[in-house]
Amino acid sequence: MAMVKCLVCGATFEEGADVCPVCGVGAENFISYAEEEVTFRRDTDEKFVIIGGGPAAKSAAEAIRQRNREAMITIVTQEAYLPYNRPMLTKGIVTDFGYNGLAVEGEEWYLQNNIFFMANTTVLKIDTDAKLIDVQLQDGGKGGVVYDKLIYALGAYCFVPPIPGHDLPHVVSVRSIADTERVRKIIEERKASRAVCIGGGVMGLEGAWGLKNGGLDVTVLETAPGLLPRQLDDNASAMLEDICNNAGVHIVTGAKIAKITEDAVVLEDGTEYEAQLVIMSTGMRPYTKVAEDSGIAVDKWVVADSGMRTNVPDVFAAGDCIIVNGQPQAFWAQAVATGRVAGANAAGDSLEYEKLGSSLVMEVCGTSVFALGTNGKDPDREFRAVEKMDQKAGLYEKYYFADDRLEGVILVGDISKMGEMTERIAEKAAYGDMFD
Ligand SMILES: Cc1cc2nc3c(=O)[nH]c(=O)nc-3n(C[C@H](O)[C@H](O)[C@H](O)COP(=O)(O)OP(=O)(O)OC[C@H]3O[C@@H](n4cnc5c(N)ncnc54)[C@H](O)[C@@H]3O)c2cc1C
Repeated sequence: MAMVKCLVCGATFEEGADVCPVCGVGAENFISYAEEEVTFRRDTDEKFVIIGGGPAAKSAAEAIRQRNREAMITIVTQEAYLPYNRPMLTKGIVTDFGYNGLAVEGEEWYLQNNIFFMANTTVLKIDTDAKLIDVQLQDGGKGGVVYDKLIYALGAYCFVPPIPGHDLPHVVSVRSIADTERVRKIIEERKASRAVCIGGGVMGLEGAWGLKNGGLDVTVLETAPGLLPRQLDDNASAMLEDICNNAGVHIVTGAKIAKITEDAVVLEDGTEYEAQLVIMSTGMRPYTKVAEDSGIAVDKWVVADSGMRTNVPDVFAAGDCIIVNGQPQAFWAQAVATGRVAGANAAGDSLEYEKLGSSLVMEVCGTSVFALGTNGKDPDREFRAVEKMDQKAGLYEKYYFADDRLEGVILVGDISKMGEMTERIAEKAAYGDMFD
């Protein structure tokens, strides 16, 4: 079966889908993709254990099985589900996809590949000398899992700032299927008509748009003076804010939040935003505690080299929990790619991770946004910029050059040049090659 790759999230899947199963964008963003041929093979009776049940874990398991037909492969995760398409959680926040609608691969795939899955099992600590993992089972009982090679792929969790009221039952941050189930339950039980999203980043805006489409009146409270200030320049931020407001998602920037109450979010100046549901979208943090407690090197993230090796022999790491060559990982494609390298190398192969770019691609409020590279805000550098703006049509293009080379692109409204611009930035296109 021919394969395609989604240019937006980097997922690869069989040709023929209308939308990307991982991030939901249309087929115009797909390119054909040839799966790499695996030539390395070493069958052993080793025990490979992968902790974490996200795309990095699934990708690592697949890479091991491609190289070793005999080994025992076990995935240990605290969630109840096989790896699923997490990016769809905010995009379809009120939609009950059902687990099968989100699964990366069905149960059949794990059976065929002889990959054993321990769900509802929390990893507590790893004894890296004895090669023994302490786990807590769903019933509260304790157990141990032995390994020969371990892959640490515990991902990330939602950071929740200690705003008074953040722990009220109608306040949710979204990272798992269980979280979206909670959102739907709150909407139903509280007959919610108004929601507030705290945080106007990509996931906050996606969640807000999803709730708006679900019939709620939504306000986004963003502490920064503009939307997505790290990715967009001021004009693009302002245009996006207008587009969101016009689409019925009320944006408040520069919001200083004082507290969350039973039925509102209150700002320091006393302004109240009624909300029966509050979504906290205030950033992610890597799951490093197990590594720290087990002597695996952590520098805010679990430290991995370009072969996904940690400082501990036979312990590899992949996905959102790691930093590799100074680059933290936070995207689906990065989790899949680092998982593949970790699994392959744990099996004895010698792959190197090729750094993947991390562009912003988002579809909310009836518009699309793409940003890659600089947004021209570095005060120590001089940029030459080319800007095309049609405020009425909601179209914006911005190209930033430094030393005559393209270093940043921002597109709003029409992002069809996304693939081309990604290549142009990679090849450091000269100003004269793009504009006269
Ligand atoms: C709402 C949302 C929207 C997103 N949208 C996009 C997008 O549009 N494009 C994109 O590229 N990326 C997106 N991402 C990011 C993407 O989903 C992640 O990069 C990817 O899931 C990381 O994969 P992972 O395997 O490293 O970790 P995860 O997917 O986080 O999986 C780690 C697993 O380990 C489990 N775990 C953690 N600790 C333990 C423990 N102690 N014991 C056992 N199990 C444990 C976790 O519960 C989880 O199941 C989004 C993420 C979220 C949450």
